[in-house]
Amino acid sequence: MPEQLTPGVVQRLDDFVARLVAPNPGPLTGAGTNTYLVGQQEVAVIDPGPDDPVHLRAILDQAAGRICWIVCTHTHTDHSPAAATLKKLTGAKLVGMTAPDTREDFNPGFDQILAEGEVVSIEGLALRAVFTPGHASNHLCFLLESTGMLFTGDHIMQGSTVVISPPDGNMRQYLSSLRRLHQVDMKVVAPGHGYLIEGPHDEVDRLIRHRLRREEKVLEALRKMSGGATLEGLLPAVYDDVPAVLHPMARRSLRAHLEKLVEEDQASQVDGNYRPGPSPT
Ligand SMILES: [Zn+2]
Repeated sequence: MPEQLTPGVVQRLDDFVARLVAPNPGPLTGAGTNTYLVGQQEVAVIDPGPDDPVHLRAILDQAAGRICWIVCTHTHTDHSPAAATLKKLTGAKLVGMTAPDTREDFNPGFDQILAEGEVVSIEGLALRAVFTPGHASNHLCFLLESTGMLFTGDHIMQGSTVVISPPDGNMRQYLSSLRRLHQVDMKVVAPGHGYLIEGPHDEVDRLIRHRLRREEKVLEALRKMSGGATLEGLLPAVYDDVPAVLHPMARRSLRAHLEKLVEEDQASQVDGNYRPGPSPT
């Protein structure tokens, strides 16, 4: 049966995993946030999504009485708010990483803070946390070790490009978190938005190449603008292949690229004016 991304329609992905799409479609969320139900007699709910009663009902219809864990990849408002309500309704243990106070996120009140390598055990199935900061500073992916399915939240999405929004988003960390996935024994990616992705290592390489090509465009544009350039001045040149309606989103990722280049001494910035090369000190 072909994969479906219809809110309210449960999609079984294999013996252990089913997916429910939350009813929050949009330019940043695609068809909606993917909620994954992992396990058989005991179930972990990964990313329960926005606090939407219809979506919560759909989750409970599938797994009421069996939900032992609620797992958040990160605390953006399209991923974690339902976690607090679901915990109240089920008494399940809520795990993930808290966001820094400076962020307007939804911290759902974790029972346990997970660190790199920690394992959530679902009736013998191991779900291992992989720390992947970049899209968010508290982002975790989760590897279901028995099948090699990697739940990537917003670290890897299908069908759209992940927005890296400073100061919490960080392009340097994002690229390094992508590279480290090559050390993970993954067979398929189950993203926070969109369809399953086969050939995950090739996909990681493609994503890295895409970011580095964009970075090269930033450097090219900087070199052409003698006298320096502002973020606004660079935006149309760097994103000339992206529809203008998406430029407000692209602006955030452009800032992230520029911050990376400044951190690496490939560019400098004074009073919002960017130039190629290290800062003249
Ligand atoms: Zn996110």
